[in-house]
Amino acid sequence: MNMGNDVKKVKIAINGGIGFGAKLNSKQLLTISKYMDEDEELELTTFQQLYIEIPEDKKEEIIEEFQSVGLVCYPVGNFVKSLRTCNFYKGELEEGMPVAKELNQRIAGKPVPFTLKVAYTGCPIGCGEPMVSDIGIMKIREHYNLYIGGKAKGKDAEVGSLLLENLSPEELYESVEKIIALYSQTGKKRETFHKFLKRIGRDQIISYT
Ligand code: SF4
Repeated sequence: MNMGNDVKKVKIAINGGIGFGAKLNSKQLLTISKYMDEDEELELTTFQQLYIEIPEDKKEEIIEEFQSVGLVCYPVGNFVKSLRTCNFYKGELEEGMPVAKELNQRIAGKPVPFTLKVAYTGCPIGCGEPMVSDIGIMKIREHYNLYIGGKAKGKDAEVGSLLLENLSPEELYESVEKIIALYSQTGKKRETFHKFLKRIGRDQIISYT
């Protein structure tokens, strides 16, 4: 009899953090597999995260172990997802990787009415697909453009539109944080950001940022 079956499990999201491509090294894979039975599966999401179920009573220590090998852990559910990024192939600074890391640090894991997807891309080629995310950021030369309202799924899929342009890193952090705060405070329970935006209107968001 497998005694492990009645252990209460909790789902967490993990990835290798923001870097050149969404990659995992062998040490990270070995660490992850320590917490999986042979017949268990990892779920690969479209947002550069893996979902794994771990025993709830060991959650803190497992997360610590994951972090010690460079994995980053996030909650699953109605939270801001970790930033989806492009691969930064033109260079760390040219593409603003430190800005992407800082933004991720500030917003990922914040509770919101419904899962919120934020994507970052280091140049107008847009490999990080910012136009089809709830909030999208595109670095253009030394500044950042902010787009909102993209929706990748459904028959009503939509391309986001430009909200603010030519932002400095500080202005970018502040604007994104304000939009997320407005959504958390005034969004209805389980209201997607797309619906929220349709309900309150872009002008309201602009006046708030
Ligand atoms: S968005 Fe631009 S900078 Fe980023 S990986 Fe694609 S081509 Fe390179």
